[in-house]
Amino acid sequence: MYLATPLHQNRFRQESNPYKAISLFITLMFSGACNCWSLKTEQNGYGFCQWNKVHFKDHRSSNQTDGDAMARQYTPCWPNDCQAAVSLTFDDNPPSQLKSAVPMLNDADLQATFYICPRGDDFMEKLMPWRDVAKARHEIGNHTISHPRSRAFGDDPAAPGYEGMTLADIEKDIVESKQRLQQLVPEQKEMSFCYPCYMEHVGCGPLRQSYVPVVARHHIAGRGRGEFPFANHPATVDLHYAWSWPAERMPGSQMIGLVEACVARKCWGILTFHGINEGRLSVTEGDLRELVNYLTINHSRIWTVSVVKAAQRILDWRKENGI
Ligand SMILES: [Zn+2]
Repeated sequence: MYLATPLHQNRFRQESNPYKAISLFITLMFSGACNCWSLKTEQNGYGFCQWNKVHFKDHRSSNQTDGDAMARQYTPCWPNDCQAAVSLTFDDNPPSQLKSAVPMLNDADLQATFYICPRGDDFMEKLMPWRDVAKARHEIGNHTISHPRSRAFGDDPAAPGYEGMTLADIEKDIVESKQRLQQLVPEQKEMSFCYPCYMEHVGCGPLRQSYVPVVARHHIAGRGRGEFPFANHPATVDLHYAWSWPAERMPGSQMIGLVEACVARKCWGILTFHGINEGRLSVTEGDLRELVNYLTINHSRIWTVSVVKAAQRILDWRKENGI
């Protein structure tokens, strides 16, 4: 049974407001939920137990992917009887991540992935605090040195950017960045990669090429961007372009709804954060805390794990199941 604890139900009722309720409702509607869900929710808080177990299969269309049916063909993927995996990923190392996110996660004993750009000759000095983050068993991941972005962000056709790069250019950056991060956190044997601005190509027009194969040569996994509410199934995810959901400006209740969509389909969900109460892509500290509290309370059924560890588990599981 997927029952939320009484403690959490009480907490939701105390903190709920119309905006949060609407956003959670929209998330679950897009997750394949049916009208029955709203009736169940009135009865038991979030109402996930009845929705997942009773209504999900009965009301899907014939061409929808059936996560449950797929899961029955394989051994369970996630450890300790967990029904889903969730990775919290943080990009660009702004100060608020060290100030807010890391202490919050450490207090909850949850591990996340932090994607860092090791820029400058003094990168070791500047990034020294992240050594302690790695010691707390978080993953430090590669986000390139130069953090390229599309020329289309501006109006200068001669500006540097993905469009002006070759595969050799991006590979040089990725390799150098990984070497620097391995200097920073030598105890970390593997690390995943994060596509800057979620973009996985260089060049433009007839010369445009994907650099996913470059990432695959140097990393166990790469995190890109996916569409709501689709998560990564362990049997089918391209580990070198795993889907994630941008979480900026997202209420905690909506993030929780996405997590529960992963549970319904036995999938791996990845959320992408930038600043905490900081910058144009920020999430509020309160919303992040709501998600972290939920993951803590539900740790026995939702595996919160770094990207590199989830990827390693999926590779092992695929071997076990001949995939
Ligand atoms: Zn970035």
